[in-house]
Amino acid sequence: MGLKIGVLAVQGDFAEHSKALVGVGAEPVEVRTPEQLDGCAGLILPGGESTAMSLLIRSAGLEQPIRELIEAGLPVFGTCAGMILLASRISDGREDQLSLGAIDISVRRNGFGRQIRSFESDLSVRGVDGPAVRAVFIRAPVVEEVFGDAEVLASVEYTFDGKGSLRVPVVCAQGSILVTSFHPELTDDLRIHEMFMVMIERSN
Ligand code: GLN
Repeated sequence: MGLKIGVLAVQGDFAEHSKALVGVGAEPVEVRTPEQLDGCAGLILPGGESTAMSLLIRSAGLEQPIRELIEAGLPVFGTCAGMILLASRISDGREDQLSLGAIDISVRRNGFGRQIRSFESDLSVRGVDGPAVRAVFIRAPVVEEVFGDAEVLASVEYTFDGKGSLRVPVVCAQGSILVTSFHPELTDDLRIHEMFMVMIERSN
């Protein structure tokens, strides 16, 4: 059996992450209670709706345990809504939504404009060898600022209404935290999940 990796399973596309984890030889554990975090070598916060996830994380009593594990250095991977939950600053969010402050980035929810909320792009990601990574963006957050110790591992060129073309970071990392504004769990390409597994191995 591979390493046990928790997948927050209160809302969103956790099933796809579990499948990807099996694909990289890990043992996914769906996390709905604090006890299910025990023994996990890493944690994934999936895509979904960050406001709904915030409420459900709190009502499940998971906020404090997740904060403590992050503090203790547990590797955590957030995709899309998961990226929003891990960011230190959130724009266009709900006033009371959860911000775990695990990575020094500012994100704007649904920041890719009103009309084209979903799109795909081919990315070159630092640390990922081989062909481009096909990235699927669904009402994705825009990373507006990267500060402190956060690093950008990939970005896209995007044309915003009235603002012209800008480079937007879409994969960032800081210590044992990894975030993507797209959904690697929705393609058959397992290389981003593999990268997370390497981060876990290195953190041990
Ligand atoms: N727009 C969603 C949010 O704000 C994220 C979308 C997604 O995870 N695909 O939480």
